Amino acid sequence: MLIKNGTVVTASETVKADVYIEGEKVHTIGTDLQMKADQWIDAKGCYLFPGGIDAHTHMDLPFMGTSSSDDFETGTLAGLHGGTTTIIDLAFQKQGDTLQNGLNTWFGKSEGKAVGDYAFHMVVTDFNDQTREEIKTMVEKFGITSFKTFMAYKGALMVDDRQIIGLFNEVEKHGGIVTTHAENGDMVDTLVSENRRKGNTAPKYHPLSRPPIVEAEATGRIADLAWEGKHPLYIVHMTCEDALNRVRDVSKRNQKVHVETCVQYLLLDDTCYEEPDFGGAKYVMSPPIRKKKDQEALWKGIEQGIVEVVATDHCPFCMDQKRAGEKDFSKIPNGAPGVEDRMALMYSEAVVKRGMSLNKFVDITATAPARIFGMLPKKGTIAVGADADIVIFDPNREQTLSAKTHHMRCDYNTYEGWKVKGKCRQTILRGTLAIDDGKALIGKGFGKYIKRAKYAQTLN
Ligand SMILES: [Zn+2]
Repeated sequence: MLIKNGTVVTASETVKADVYIEGEKVHTIGTDLQMKADQWIDAKGCYLFPGGIDAHTHMDLPFMGTSSSDDFETGTLAGLHGGTTTIIDLAFQKQGDTLQNGLNTWFGKSEGKAVGDYAFHMVVTDFNDQTREEIKTMVEKFGITSFKTFMAYKGALMVDDRQIIGLFNEVEKHGGIVTTHAENGDMVDTLVSENRRKGNTAPKYHPLSRPPIVEAEATGRIADLAWEGKHPLYIVHMTCEDALNRVRDVSKRNQKVHVETCVQYLLLDDTCYEEPDFGGAKYVMSPPIRKKKDQEALWKGIEQGIVEVVATDHCPFCMDQKRAGEKDFSKIPNGAPGVEDRMALMYSEAVVKRGMSLNKFVDITATAPARIFGMLPKKGTIAVGADADIVIFDPNREQTLSAKTHHMRCDYNTYEGWKVKGKCRQTILRGTLAIDDGKALIGKGFGKYIKRAKYAQTLN
């Protein structure tokens, strides 16, 4: 395949160049390429971005009595429509069960179904002598080099500090990295009970039960635990200035903490919980949407290089699923759709409106997650020898985001009616034209499982 006349953008360069793809890989990047090709695409006026990497998604996740409404087929296909070619989903250990069984379950959900490429973080919900033994196998055999812990959701997912310390030690031994959902589970449970006792049932009590201090406390604590043992750490979906400031504080002792945020925390504020007719439920996720000043802090965090990754925590539930919590906000399944709209929203809001450089845009949406999670240079950049995962992005097209037109299996869109500038015109996955002007040319089973390299090999 030969892509002519486009502008190739990587995390470090912007160059007008043609790209010649042979098989699944980028073969040559250069000007005026004249190779014979079976397929020829004119990308005049378009950017060629590396395929987006969403480092945080939940397809087909059983959670809070139901399951997230996108499975690996619909979810990865929606991602491809929006220019995300690889997701890192989360495979969950069941408390009391093995990591291997958890992983097998997630392979069962994804193999033969995923349309786009995918990898897994392993969620350790129960760290004990048996799971300790399994960490090595996860890293060496399956290329799962990141392990997620929850500091909240007590009784379901939450682990205590002692387990976190044990996991830090074992994961580091094998060159991996621990990631964490930083919220103080006990503080959350106390505030939820208080609100329920007072008869506060509406969605707006969800954020009030998880104020910023809940997240800041857990952020500071996990940073300290990591520091004590000199372990690498990645904090998922940071939402607020108070938590970010904890990371700024620990940087004074020269500690490096990787921080991810999600599109919704950059673009929405907590007035969304006031939406009438139970509409606030659409935005019930944890941690919750914060205030405008928190958005600004996160944008500054990106500028400073503290926030390195923008993901989605894509975890959609349809409105009838959300209604399980109509009489009790704490029963609203936590999560929202987003995987399809991330690239366009970030291009429009960050590059067009805020003047972010194209290179930084590529970094936060693809290269940084690939680097931190051991997929670079195979994924996350456009380079000779890399997987030909390329988005042909038309910066002049406009689109209006809507549940009526999106491909995610969810009956609402978090950004309903938002007008964004820029649209993914074509998506190429491993050298195959996957999406052509809104038409899917590949189907289920095309997506490949990606084994990842160790954190210690790529970043230490
Ligand atoms: Zn999540």
